[in-house]
Amino acid sequence: RASWFSRLKQGLARTGSGIAQVFTGTRIDDALYEELETALLMADTGVKATEHLLRDLKQRVKDTKATDPAQVKALLIEGVAELLAPLERPLVVGEFVPTVIMVVGVNGAGKTTSIGKLTRHLAESGAKVLLAAADTFRAAAREQLSVWAGRNQVEIVSQEGGDPAAVTFDAVNAGRARGCDVVIADTAGRLPTQLHLMEELKKIRRVINKADATAPHQVLLVVDGNTGQNALAQVKSFDDALTLTGLIVTKLDGTAKGGVLAAIALWVRERQAAGGGPVPVYFIGVGEQLEDLQTFSAREFASALLS
Ligand code: GDP
Repeated sequence: RASWFSRLKQGLARTGSGIAQVFTGTRIDDALYEELETALLMADTGVKATEHLLRDLKQRVKDTKATDPAQVKALLIEGVAELLAPLERPLVVGEFVPTVIMVVGVNGAGKTTSIGKLTRHLAESGAKVLLAAADTFRAAAREQLSVWAGRNQVEIVSQEGGDPAAVTFDAVNAGRARGCDVVIADTAGRLPTQLHLMEELKKIRRVINKADATAPHQVLLVVDGNTGQNALAQVKSFDDALTLTGLIVTKLDGTAKGGVLAAIALWVRERQAAGGGPVPVYFIGVGEQLEDLQTFSAREFASALLS
């Protein structure tokens, strides 16, 4: 089985965004920058982040007096890595016991799978984990979460047709009573049409806070890396409603173009400049297996994107 890094590289290369091809010529001229602009846009980088990266690159070329396109490529990798660097940060649990992690995201993004993988990751580091099935609307969601609980041999709080906020409230209390280190709440990604998703999620957030005044300690959004600029739109709207503390970007082994990470990084930078907290990409998903959740590395991602 290929390493995660090569699967990420293959995934990003498969889309043929062709960023690397831009640097195969012999001259650094306007045509090169134009081709690069197109390639970055095709890779889902978005207009703003593409402009940012081009401006940054031109400055680096000037500063280093680069003369060879291969050097320009290396400078672009540096620029991308620098933009992405604030997204790189380990997920720390243990400051609060239990650490309560609320996981949100639209259906199909890979939320339940990522919770399964995250549970494995935390359990391997010795944490006692409790899962809360707060998507009480879909029986399949509850069942899927209990399969992951079984695979990881952790306990789950689940209640058929129950109120999502009530299930979460019980889970936080159960986590405390049972001496758990981490409580992870899986939430709905879509509701029966008469109900509003963000209102429901806000209610869960409030109720978690009632059960534990310091919680939730993390509100993580799972986004599908294949959805390009749409992923950025999801990040913004979930953040508006819930104030996110981090992201998990999935399916980067597939047909994802990867540039969306640069768009997200620029958004995080602006958010922090306006006084907001960091929103790291705690993990990336590079496959469907339990071990296919990797910590995000800005430099490795930048070189995979441009290889
Ligand atoms: P949810 O509706 O957000 O809970 O999504 P699921 O966790 O059920 O995932 C939806 C589909 O995406 C499933 O078939 C998963 O196996 C798949 N999936 C999730 N994460 C990844 C990933 O990182 N890579 C790939 N290739 N597939 C993934």
